[in-house]
Amino acid sequence: MRFSSLKELAVVCEKEGKSICDIMLEDQAAESGRSKEQEWEKMKAYYGIMKDAAAKGIVSEKTSRSGLTGGDAKRVHEYTRNPDASLEPFTGLAMAYALAVSEVNASMGRIVATPTAGSCGVIPGVFVSSQERFGWDDDHMVKGLFSAGAIGYIIANNSFISGAEGGCQAEIGSAIGMAAGALVELKGGTPAQAVHAVGLALKNTLGLICDPVGGLVEIPCIVRNGFGAVNALAAADMALAGVRSAIPTDEVIQVMLEVGSAMPDTHRETAMGGLAQTPTGKEIIRQLAKDRKKPAVSKKEDTK
Ligand code: SF4
Repeated sequence: MRFSSLKELAVVCEKEGKSICDIMLEDQAAESGRSKEQEWEKMKAYYGIMKDAAAKGIVSEKTSRSGLTGGDAKRVHEYTRNPDASLEPFTGLAMAYALAVSEVNASMGRIVATPTAGSCGVIPGVFVSSQERFGWDDDHMVKGLFSAGAIGYIIANNSFISGAEGGCQAEIGSAIGMAAGALVELKGGTPAQAVHAVGLALKNTLGLICDPVGGLVEIPCIVRNGFGAVNALAAADMALAGVRSAIPTDEVIQVMLEVGSAMPDTHRETAMGGLAQTPTGKEIIRQLAKDRKKPAVSKKEDTK
């Protein structure tokens, strides 16, 4: 890759008069040994999976295998379409799609890790709702995925992208930054504005711990994806309006590294702290363990 920081990426884009997507596609093809067309088709197939998951999850009432979650995407979709909702319908749709994809993940459905399975809802939430809103075609969305990929590559190589390493700031935070920066480009913003969007977004999730109840990627993960999609829309709008990240984005990424490294193990996906260890979190775990121990219902009883 010709860049290892967002500053370098913006400089390469400016020097060559290209978008983040163009640079990422060229460098990824050069690195993988595949043609740009092959890389494009692969990414397009990923986008197809994201769209399928969003469409499936938003109408589903199915609960997850644990029984803890499910159906919230549908509820949010229905509510945010009514005039009493505080969010306008497309923002509500972004939130609902993000919940939908995360619920599909929790019920063992097919998703794309963006950047991880735990944060798989943010990018599809933003992308699929924006595509519907602005009438973009799939190829336009694929451009955005390459831009998001470049941003994720830089965050991963300079800090963390997983909750086990750096807390939820690394997982949901990175997804929000990737979605925000990509959306700026999709809407015609400059690479510099995209970089500011990433910085604005990441600052807002610094310090967020990873504390999944029972170690399952459900509570609070699913709702964090929903909120994440809304934050990404807000960060993109701020950057496109001309708001700058006063602390350069690469420095914000270093802060994420500092904060994540200082986080105790209890707050890094071990389910030993945070929401996972609240009285209710513990009760949920006890209940799940009890349910697992229950003898299976015999066929005869089942037909009674
Ligand atoms: S709480 Fe942990 S497992 Fe859940 S989304 Fe955040 S980082 Fe992922």
